Amino acid sequence: MNEAELLFTEVLRCDRASLYQNPNATLGRNNSRLISSALKRRIKGEPIQYILGKTEFMGLEFKLDRGVLIPRPETEILVETVIKIVSGFRIQASGLNVLDVGTGSGCIAVSLAKFLKDIRVTATDISEKAITVAKENAALNKVEDKIDFIRQDLFGLQLAACSMRPNLFDFIVSNPPYVLTAEIERLQPEIKFEPRIALDGGSDGLDFYRRIIKEAPCYLVKGGCLIIEIGFNQKGLIENIFHNSAIFEIIEIVKDYNNIDRVIVAQRKQELG
Ligand code: GLN
Repeated sequence: MNEAELLFTEVLRCDRASLYQNPNATLGRNNSRLISSALKRRIKGEPIQYILGKTEFMGLEFKLDRGVLIPRPETEILVETVIKIVSGFRIQASGLNVLDVGTGSGCIAVSLAKFLKDIRVTATDISEKAITVAKENAALNKVEDKIDFIRQDLFGLQLAACSMRPNLFDFIVSNPPYVLTAEIERLQPEIKFEPRIALDGGSDGLDFYRRIIKEAPCYLVKGGCLIIEIGFNQKGLIENIFHNSAIFEIIEIVKDYNNIDRVIVAQRKQELG
């Protein structure tokens, strides 16, 4: 649906076809007021997803507010890649543990919990607001029993169990902030409504990749995979960070619908401690 259809179907609580079946219908006073206040917000640049307070991702509904990044279609590629890789591992193991670092709205964690049987997800975020929204989304999609949410910066898991069993996760997944600080101002005005901490990857956009690639091995089983979303033109630079770590081997790079390299799958080498 286009944005106008999204807005009208939401306010009128009808489906898309009904909008066109009765072209001469008039809006009641209440609905006109709702539409007009939504339009005023949209004209100021606020994304339609925040105005509606929800969006769709992987065919699931997610509640949203301005405390979390709006899920992007390219992140569905990340989720689909994780589903494919985890399903391959499933032949060898069951009851896999997945960590989603910087979960935001919870779109990745919730989708994985929904579409993969027998997995346990841990999801972290530094933002209290994000953890609140992500928990609501887990409940909305009925997977709250499969996900543990922890408010913290990246790793450094506070769970006692984690410090006792450092190599806890079979997969670590992340869509970290990767936009260059200087570039944020140049992007479309809608971006300014989103939380900056979810977008700003530092002066070269790579701050979080350096940290994640350095810290992840402490939490990843040998042979486990780190699967991350990357930004436009970042593939070579991030490949270098992986190579310099000498701990990971890149096993797959997946392109998005625009033919841009979007997801890196890196496996923790078996032989290194
Ligand atoms: N894909 C988002 C954008 O460019 C950025 C998301 C991110 O930094 N992880 O708008």
